[in-house]
Amino acid sequence: MAVFNMLENVEDLYEIGEVLGSGHFGQVREVRERATGARWAGKFLKIRKCASSRLGMERKNVEREVEVLQALQHPNIMALKDVFESRAEVVLVLELISGGELFDFIAEKENLTESDAIDFMKQILLGVGFMHNKQIGHFDLKPENIMLSDKMAPNPDIKIIDFGLAHCLQSGEEYRCMSGTPQYICEYNSNLLFPDSAYFPRLSGLSPFQGDTDEETLRNIIALNYKFDDHHFSMTSAMAKDFIQKLFVKDQNERMTAEECLHHPWIKPLTRKQVANRNRSSINMKTFKKFNAKRKWKMSYNMVWMCNRLHRLKLLCKTSALAGEELRPCESDQEDTETKPASLIRRRLSNSS
Ligand code: ATP
Repeated sequence: MAVFNMLENVEDLYEIGEVLGSGHFGQVREVRERATGARWAGKFLKIRKCASSRLGMERKNVEREVEVLQALQHPNIMALKDVFESRAEVVLVLELISGGELFDFIAEKENLTESDAIDFMKQILLGVGFMHNKQIGHFDLKPENIMLSDKMAPNPDIKIIDFGLAHCLQSGEEYRCMSGTPQYICEYNSNLLFPDSAYFPRLSGLSPFQGDTDEETLRNIIALNYKFDDHHFSMTSAMAKDFIQKLFVKDQNERMTAEECLHHPWIKPLTRKQVANRNRSSINMKTFKKFNAKRKWKMSYNMVWMCNRLHRLKLLCKTSALAGEELRPCESDQEDTETKPASLIRRRLSNSS
């Protein structure tokens, strides 16, 4: 377990800047290191201070996220630099990833060959393979969590982010997780050689599991009921379909691992004919752009829904407190509404396990 030292205040070392994004338990903001001027991303996570509160993140889950990030030092995985703690908040100082989401970058393009997509895919596989070799599953691989270090670079680097659901899997231990997003979900257990597989076919345009509703998509994934219909997959190479088919295999012993994916001829062609096939085939950009726009709309909808729910929860906490009920707002709930983040004393954590 991480031991938290009370050393320094994050604001003494970093200047807090603009908001870069937000998630379920807080915000991600740009921060500038006072000593060097270097830019980083600060992930500010609200911590649940009492068991009866439903606001904030359980401290043990933050500790898990920190431990996972500390174990994962790889060019395609967002790096963790530092961790601070205050009474109601933990701040992760992370590598700043300024290129935006991979899918937004792709959606701006008019054409994308399979070879271009494979360059990105390879980097994702390298990051995921590294994670899996350390027995860690991400469990939330989805377009929002695949970013680019710098989209202006000629060959932008992929960075995998958000390890909030990541788990270290002990051998023999069973882990089933049904959280995540229907389109990318897999039913996981520790025997799965390649748990984070549902993400990958997206890079080929449309998911072959796509149903009319999220429920139908989820049912299709669980039943492994998919098809490559001619309308959407006519421009997809046979090698790409073979790659996808080898991922969607129920028996984990038969499914490709991330390492095996890197040796599949779609990723690493062996003959000139295979290279030519890849270059000839392209991503269906019309479908991709449509999918990306729908995804963005859904994200905004979910954000509004989450804010309303949080607002209702806070009201409920206040009402229960007034009525003398057991459900009381905890310290972090109070700070949510009454204390400005700048006034918090944030202290550095050390991880002496
Ligand atoms: P969720 O509720 O989706 O699990 P979360 O609370 O775990 O989210 P993240 O997904 O890690 O938070 O971050 C939220 C958003 O902040 C991301 O979608 C991304 O836009 C932005 N972000 C996260 N990390 C970084 C980073 N290192 N550099 C730049 N932006 C980042």
